[in-house]
Amino acid sequence: MEELRFDELGLQEALMRAVADMGFEAASPIQAQAIPVELEGRDVIGQAQTGTGKTAAFSLPLLEKIDPKNKKLQSLILCPTRELAIQVAEEIRKLAKYMHGIKILPIYGGQDIVKQIRSLKGGVQIIIGTPGRVMDHMRRKTIKLDHVHTVILDEADEMLNMGFVEDIETILESVPEERQTVLFSATMPEAIMNIAKNFQKDPVLVRVLKKELTVPKIGQYYYMVRQKNKAEVLSRLLDMYNPKLSLVFCNTKKMVDELVNELQGRGYFAEGLHGDLKQSQRDRVMAGFRNGKTEILVATDVAARGIDVDDVEAVFNYDIPQDEEYYVHRIGRTGRAGREGMAFSLVVGREIYKLKDIQRYCKTKIHERQIPSVNDVTKIKTDNILTRMSKIIEEEDLGSLIQAIEEKINEEEYSSLELAAAFLKDILGEESEEIEEIYSPEQWEEGRGRGRKSGRGAEAGMTRLFINIGKKQGIRPGDIVGAIAGESGIPGKMIGSIDMYDRYTFVDVPRGQVSAIIKAMKKSKIKGKSVNVERANNASNS
Ligand code: AMP
Repeated sequence: MEELRFDELGLQEALMRAVADMGFEAASPIQAQAIPVELEGRDVIGQAQTGTGKTAAFSLPLLEKIDPKNKKLQSLILCPTRELAIQVAEEIRKLAKYMHGIKILPIYGGQDIVKQIRSLKGGVQIIIGTPGRVMDHMRRKTIKLDHVHTVILDEADEMLNMGFVEDIETILESVPEERQTVLFSATMPEAIMNIAKNFQKDPVLVRVLKKELTVPKIGQYYYMVRQKNKAEVLSRLLDMYNPKLSLVFCNTKKMVDELVNELQGRGYFAEGLHGDLKQSQRDRVMAGFRNGKTEILVATDVAARGIDVDDVEAVFNYDIPQDEEYYVHRIGRTGRAGREGMAFSLVVGREIYKLKDIQRYCKTKIHERQIPSVNDVTKIKTDNILTRMSKIIEEEDLGSLIQAIEEKINEEEYSSLELAAAFLKDILGEESEEIEEIYSPEQWEEGRGRGRKSGRGAEAGMTRLFINIGKKQGIRPGDIVGAIAGESGIPGKMIGSIDMYDRYTFVDVPRGQVSAIIKAMKKSKIKGKSVNVERANNASNS
């Protein structure tokens, strides 16, 4: 498994700082392949799907090229859906955090065109747009392409599936020939190769070559979870299986730190391992894990590389790995030296596709499991405690303690059963958090309605709404729930998952309530701001 550190890429300081803030430890495999070629200015065809780090793979070299002093439009990124355009814009904004004078704008159908035109007048250097809306602006001459030096086609196969081929061709014909054209696509059908042939110059094909992967023979399971429930689900699995030593993998250093805090807060003996630790800290953490003082080691892929501990009983993929090979390396840490091992993966939404890819490439079966309920966990914890108690009764001298119990029983008129149950309750500790409504992958896919084309979909029985307000306006998820529940009268708990971005929010609401909610929200304000609420997929393709 090759590893490329970001500082080996020769990116400018401002980008390096942003990458550090995002907690990326090393370039993902597709980034390691694509970024150096893009930095040379070559045209690229990148084969990669969501979850591989593809957005940063084309955005970092692009930002390296953007001249902040030049206020003309320099780059156009085409995306199949509104939601993807927004996600890409958000990721680029994060990467450009320390670069001054760079303006980025997502433009898509469904949004008020007059407003878009006003924003465009402010000197935007990077546009991320859906093809139909970009064409619309080209016709109105509100987008001028004559200074564009870089065009990126993201999820090109999806754009072709959605019938955007002619629009894409028209747009590409209107961009100066002297340019870099980068195309990313999960699949490479002939139509994609035709676009490459007609609109790229001597492109380099980059993809992560798959080695023969041998998956260790251990039990592999996955759970469909919501992002916000991940820590709770991990805790339940840890309680239920009670592995002596566990390795938990995260994709970023930031996530490692956050999760270690969370687990320690919940009373687990957990420590983190990642590239920011000094050698002495690293040695201390590893020593703790080897001697069993630390039961849970939370690590990034790179940091875990050197770990050589034989009795890891369970591996958890807290984040789904960015590459199939990582998966095999991760789960290979358990089931060593003839021991039984288990590997658990937590899957959020569309990550199920990444998991399916992993199964396909690794020719392995990862079985779906239902998240254990609080009762399941309590029952197993109780069984474990009672087994421990039997051992204590058989092996220890309890004489004086029995006397203390007898005195208490006589004093308070408790039964010995009552007293034993109270002990048990005390040892069992705090109740787990509630997890509502976890959905299965089938339900999730079903709920997507129009399938993969529409970007991330809503859950089963739910419709995804788009609201033109986000974190930057000081809005929190609670405000959205409050406003929708308050205005439409539906109970807050019926409102599904909420994805907030800096300037936008997506929220799942029960399908039958959509019109009522949209209508109710028309007249209302959230934190004093008027909002526009509409179906997320509405006109996103135009
Ligand atoms: P994408 O494949 O672009 O949809 O990216 C999936 C997720 O991976 C995003 O949340 C990125 O911020 C994150 N990501 C991108 N590059 C890296 C990296 N080198 N290490 C860890 N996470 C990354």
